[in-house]
Amino acid sequence: MSKPRILILGAGYGGMMTTTQLTKRLGVNDAQITLVNKHNYHYQTTWLHEPAAGTLPVDRTRMLIKDVINTNRVEFIQDTVVSIKKDENKVVLKNGGEIDYDYLVIALGFESETFGIKGLKENALAIEDVNSVRLIREHIEYQFSRYHNMEEKDDSLLTIVVGGGGFTGVEFLGELVNRLPELCREYDIDREKVRVINVEGAPTILPMFDKELVEYAIRRLESKGVEFRLGTLLKECKEDGVVVGKPNSDEVEEIKAGTVVWTGGVRGNRVLEESGFEVARGRVNVGDDLRVPGYDNVFVIGDCANVMNPETGRPYPTTAQNAIQQAYSVARNIKHLLRGEPTEKYVFHNKGTVASLGHGDAIGVIFGNIKLKGMSAAIMKKIIDNRYLFLLGGIGLMLRKGKLNLFGK
Ligand code: FAD
Ligand code: NAD
Repeated sequence: MSKPRILILGAGYGGMMTTTQLTKRLGVNDAQITLVNKHNYHYQTTWLHEPAAGTLPVDRTRMLIKDVINTNRVEFIQDTVVSIKKDENKVVLKNGGEIDYDYLVIALGFESETFGIKGLKENALAIEDVNSVRLIREHIEYQFSRYHNMEEKDDSLLTIVVGGGGFTGVEFLGELVNRLPELCREYDIDREKVRVINVEGAPTILPMFDKELVEYAIRRLESKGVEFRLGTLLKECKEDGVVVGKPNSDEVEEIKAGTVVWTGGVRGNRVLEESGFEVARGRVNVGDDLRVPGYDNVFVIGDCANVMNPETGRPYPTTAQNAIQQAYSVARNIKHLLRGEPTEKYVFHNKGTVASLGHGDAIGVIFGNIKLKGMSAAIMKKIIDNRYLFLLGGIGLMLRKGKLNLFGK
């Protein structure tokens, strides 16, 4: 009899962890496991703000998939998922035709959400993956090098607008202002001429943290030169800057900028809606065991899933922490299904949240109510990063790829 085929789509936090957990939990003869990803590497999405600003080489954030998974147990296919034929148990790949499955785990991650804002897609850069962050770093450097090659100097080339002051925006700002002194030295640019402007529609950045931590974050970033435009919406993005204004007001202001980085929110991967899944902001409302209603052999996890928090009646935030815990749950549930046992409900254990403010600085709340700021929060952030590598590939991967210098870079 042929073995049941388990197909995992996407090798981000959710997909990689599902794969490694399945190989640990299942015997060789229990199932055939296949992982599909569009690149041959896995990257740490949670570190992407660093190579985007140029404070960390891209290669520190990524690793070859074959070096992490057990290739004797898992077939890895490097290809792009085009669509999912959920009624036929097939997945269509860009180069490799169709593959069949008995169980499917969809972990295709997020895309930047532009909310239909005019010109954003065409003119702004976004922190989405390895290729997009390379572009941000290169673009900023290109604008800095253009500056001295102009007859008439245009200082706006040196202005960087960051649209959105959520986690990604703030973490990027922290790295960027750390990088600027070095960048200015390298390109012979007066630091005073460089403007870094954060445009945030809400009255505050990082609204999930309490006032004391938010004020600390704002103070620290302002001291390194970030100008905050709070309660201000980015309404349009042009080739040479942005148009901003207050919510509910027609009055607008134009800010000329050589670089615009959009960090105003994310959505689930478009492949799901294009495959006929019912989605809200690109995410599938999954059941309490992370399966798609009506499709008992299909799980959706990570940033493609809306998982309800039964206590609040609202979805949990889409985070790596959640994606990783969901992967463990799915691996256990696939094993249950293979044995004809009932599935378990997914329960999220919130271990806390830390937002980096650049090298050696961060804010966070851990274990429910312990507030951290400064170096202690920055060390906690590195411990979280290292813990993931340890869970994924053991001590070897952590030593190879981890942030082992807890106090330094
Ligand atoms: P992803 O990690 O996005 O992985 C998706 C994978 O699918 C990728 O490998 C991609 O290449 C692949 N893929 C996509 N489309 C296709 C296709 N069509 N075919 C084949 N393969 C495809 N969360 C936290 O908990 N803590 C943090 O500190 C944190 N920091 C963050 C910092 C930044 C800068 C960003 C952007 C996000 C951060 N997050 C953090 C959120 C976290 O990164 C996401 O929630 C997490 O990456 C979701 O994991 P995932 O497995 O669903 O998807
Ligand atoms: P987000 O949705 O958390 O934040 C987007 C921000 O952009 C919001 O503050 C919103 O008010 C603002 N915004 C939206 N439209 C705007 C407009 N037109 N003009 C100005 N501001 C606008 O998105 P994110 O920061 O990309 O985070 C995505 C997910 O990843 C979240 O679930 C987050 O928790 C997670 N994440 C976590 C960490 C961490 O734990 N350290 C880091 C990065 C991301």
